[in-house]
Amino acid sequence: MRFFVAMLSHETNTFSPIRTDRAQFEAHDLRYGGELLETYRGTGTCLGGMIAAATELNAALVPSLAATASPAGRVAKEFYAEARDRLLADLRAAGQLDGVLLDLHGAMVVEGIDDGEGDLLRAVRAAVGATPIAVTLDFHGNITRAMVETATLLHGYKTYPHVDMRARGHEAATRLAEAAAGRIRPAVAWRQPPMLPPIAGQLTTRGPMRRLYDLADAMEARTGVLTVSIFAGFPLADIHDAGLSIYVATNGDQALAERLADELAAAAWDLRREFLHTALSPKDAVARALALDGRPVVLADIADNTGGGAGGDTTEILRELLRVGARSATVACLWDPEAAAACVAAGVGATLTLPVGGKVDPVHGAPLTVTGRVRTLSDGRFVYKGPMMRGLEARVGPTAVLDVNDVKLILISQRRQALDPEMIRFVGIDPTAEKILVLKSSIHYRAAFEPLARAILEVDAPGLSSSNLGRFAFTRVRRPIFPLDEL
Ligand SMILES: [Zn+2]
Repeated sequence: MRFFVAMLSHETNTFSPIRTDRAQFEAHDLRYGGELLETYRGTGTCLGGMIAAATELNAALVPSLAATASPAGRVAKEFYAEARDRLLADLRAAGQLDGVLLDLHGAMVVEGIDDGEGDLLRAVRAAVGATPIAVTLDFHGNITRAMVETATLLHGYKTYPHVDMRARGHEAATRLAEAAAGRIRPAVAWRQPPMLPPIAGQLTTRGPMRRLYDLADAMEARTGVLTVSIFAGFPLADIHDAGLSIYVATNGDQALAERLADELAAAAWDLRREFLHTALSPKDAVARALALDGRPVVLADIADNTGGGAGGDTTEILRELLRVGARSATVACLWDPEAAAACVAAGVGATLTLPVGGKVDPVHGAPLTVTGRVRTLSDGRFVYKGPMMRGLEARVGPTAVLDVNDVKLILISQRRQALDPEMIRFVGIDPTAEKILVLKSSIHYRAAFEPLARAILEVDAPGLSSSNLGRFAFTRVRRPIFPLDEL
């Protein structure tokens, strides 16, 4: 068999002032053809799983585009058009295909196109006719009718932290082969209860999402059920279809798919209040961390998670650490290319005074002027070694550690979520030796840091990935929807 494979992935936070243009993709990952296979083979990613399954199935892969950028504002319409046209041109040039594998996100919003994936999938469907299309989607996908109706099968991640990307990629490729051989005939059902769960309430290790996935996993084990996905949705993409949704595919049994989808939608609705989330003020969180015995204590800066489209440069927790004179603390990581460049220019050992952070969005805090010593410099390359994206190389650009009275700021030049201890180790800091680790991440840090942290405290500082949805002015999401409206 011959399968076409491509990735176009972006989680769009429509409240972010950062436009996701071509340069943002180039900085993160943008490659074509055989490079897709070379880069992702053997990695803990959807593409890694698709490639592994294709090898096992003895299927040939025709690689096209692989494009992803750090979550931020709407994708520039010129870049989206370029990427879509490239993918469609590759499809036309691919010759006879048995199937199409796409690694998409599900919450990509393009300038002028709220449903990015729906638009892309319609174009791909028009190009390939009846050829089966299997798609992996992020747990944060905001699923639309266009996605459900154009794809043969959707496979959402079932975990947050997302530790099953490779498994989902493998599953999508395996099901695609079955569909291509005519061994399965998917019948799908989709439900969209009026729910917009905040990010910090969506983890799948416990709480309401765990309970829903326990139900879903039991359904998936039944004969005739192909796949069940519960998408928690991405609330900060302010589009009509944002929020939680249910997707069930059976082998030809439409009534069963509808019945299971109804059952899950009702269960999710009953749990809606359990998704609501509260966290500590920066002042209370720092005081509690310092009072605890043992180390490290993680202060999760859940509202400034670049993985949710926040700037990664807010300073409220840092300000509090310096105010109380905390020591043995590391802030991972503060996005500030200007400050990193100033440290590089000054050199290791130099002392300098400069403003850091607070440059993305004045609504969420101002720069903070600090005086510190440049402790380490790095070119910003490291390899993920934790449960997420293991084996994949990351680049965060010129990086400096500025030591401000033993509060160490890791200043990076490309926005990247602090979800792996390697993002601290690569600049020569041992995360387990620190008293306090400030991690700019909502949930993903838990996969690698829970096993090594003495305690975790979630902090409700300002930021564009806040789980306090009352802080945002929604205009496009369908209403009424819980918890924006009391239902
Ligand atoms: Zn996600």
